[in-house]
Amino acid sequence: MNNHYDLAVIGGGNAALCAAITAAELGAKVIILETAPKPYRGGNSRHTRDIRCMHRGPLGPLEGDYSEDEYYEDLLKVTGGKTNEQLARLVIRSSEKALPWMQKHGVHFQPPLSGTLSLTRTNAFFLGGGKSLINAYYRTADKLGIDVLYRAHVKHLQLKGNLIARVDYVYEGQQYQIEPSSVVVASGGFEANLEWLEKAWGPPAENFLIRGTPYNRGVVLEDLLEQGVQSVGDPTQCHAVAIDGRAPKFDGGIVTRLDCVPFSIVVNKEGQRFYDEGEDIWPKRYAIWGRLVAQQPDQVAFAIIDSKSLKMFMPSAFPPTEANTLEELAEKTGLPSEKLIDTIATFNAACGNSDAFHPTELDSVTTTGLTPEKTNWARPISEPPFYCYSLRTGVTFTYLALKIDKNAQCSTATGPVKNLWAAGETMAGSILSQGYLAGLGMMIGTVFGRIAGREAANYANG
Ligand SMILES: Cc1cc2nc3c(=O)[nH]c(=O)nc-3n(C[C@H](O)[C@H](O)[C@H](O)COP(=O)(O)OP(=O)(O)OC[C@H]3O[C@@H](n4cnc5c(N)ncnc54)[C@H](O)[C@@H]3O)c2cc1C
Repeated sequence: MNNHYDLAVIGGGNAALCAAITAAELGAKVIILETAPKPYRGGNSRHTRDIRCMHRGPLGPLEGDYSEDEYYEDLLKVTGGKTNEQLARLVIRSSEKALPWMQKHGVHFQPPLSGTLSLTRTNAFFLGGGKSLINAYYRTADKLGIDVLYRAHVKHLQLKGNLIARVDYVYEGQQYQIEPSSVVVASGGFEANLEWLEKAWGPPAENFLIRGTPYNRGVVLEDLLEQGVQSVGDPTQCHAVAIDGRAPKFDGGIVTRLDCVPFSIVVNKEGQRFYDEGEDIWPKRYAIWGRLVAQQPDQVAFAIIDSKSLKMFMPSAFPPTEANTLEELAEKTGLPSEKLIDTIATFNAACGNSDAFHPTELDSVTTTGLTPEKTNWARPISEPPFYCYSLRTGVTFTYLALKIDKNAQCSTATGPVKNLWAAGETMAGSILSQGYLAGLGMMIGTVFGRIAGREAANYANG
């Protein structure tokens, strides 16, 4: 690899491609270094379904309008106010133009989905999912003459003074170095690095499942932090949901998510309930259940429903455990029989009249005198067959990030690193310090990918 490049982009997901395409369109000679082999290119981005856009009227597949202030308010709610307002508003404002840009570069959208994730006004769904978005961008990159090297594992960016002087990577067991004029880091978080997760979370992390790519191990993030590049965020903060306990350790993707919790009771391995399953509609609550399960013994939980509720949520990739009696269910799942039967009997006794039950609205069909109470959709678990899904913590992505400014530029304590920019998960913690808003991850990568690509190309063009 002796060519000189104006820009080396580290990573091969959404943020990387948005940066590479933008820079190439401004005349830069670009290489993408992607550690995954070609069939697994695209990191977590290939698992995605939708992106959140501000709009002042119908836009592409989006209905109605969604103002900057409403979007920002939604973000404040999920982050508890802990966000960088300048960067967050920049993403929100830029999102309106990002959608047509995506369409221009090959991304197609589909009509909104219905069901538990009905987001017809706020979120645009990719036709063919994230995989087809990624494939479209790679096709565009190819047309623009961008070089892509798969299985190129970047290990070190050498920081010399206020410049990245060299990029070191391993390809087919050999070490290589290039000296591009500029670098965009878009290599994700550290969610697939189990040792790092364990350092942050302690031993429970051993039992976490990683919903996305096994390649986001935070190698470049750690390398830059060790050299004094500034960071933001807390290593224990991440997006984590409760997923099917039988999901693979890595890359299970969206099909392993379980949407049955609001219609269930959830018990830990001791057969004990621990949280209000009906606190709010599922899109507003799914992201807290990863942490709740992480706090239970062995980081496992069990959602139990009866035949009344089986068809009320999106089916999981795995069938539930089925039994005609609660004793049989306890035996099949390994739950303590006496305790489980007692927990369900106590719950059933606390349920009142459920005539107002409404699966898609907060129906206030609640328990009385129960701790923890179930504040909506509280119907007795009484009609066999009974079903059980095991739940585990599924980590989506981590929030410890490179600190950037509004131009996506990284810095050290002595000032900006002149030729280093970051985009996507690797800087998303600047906006997401806790909590999550569906569809924001892809928008952060799209907006800051384009900014980073523009800045890097302008730098290289002098
Ligand atoms: C199951 C699932 C569903 C999701 N659904 C949505 C959704 O619908 N909407 C949404 O907005 N967000 C969603 N997200 C979050 C979203 O995936 C991320 O916010 C987004 O994809 C981040 O893009 P990125 O380009 O920063 O990272 P990624 O797409 O993960 O790309 C990082 C890339 O860096 C590469 N890499 C890592 N280390 C190195 C290295 N050392 N050298 C070279 N390359 C390296 C990886 O191989 C990978 O290609 C979902 C995540 C998951 C896991």
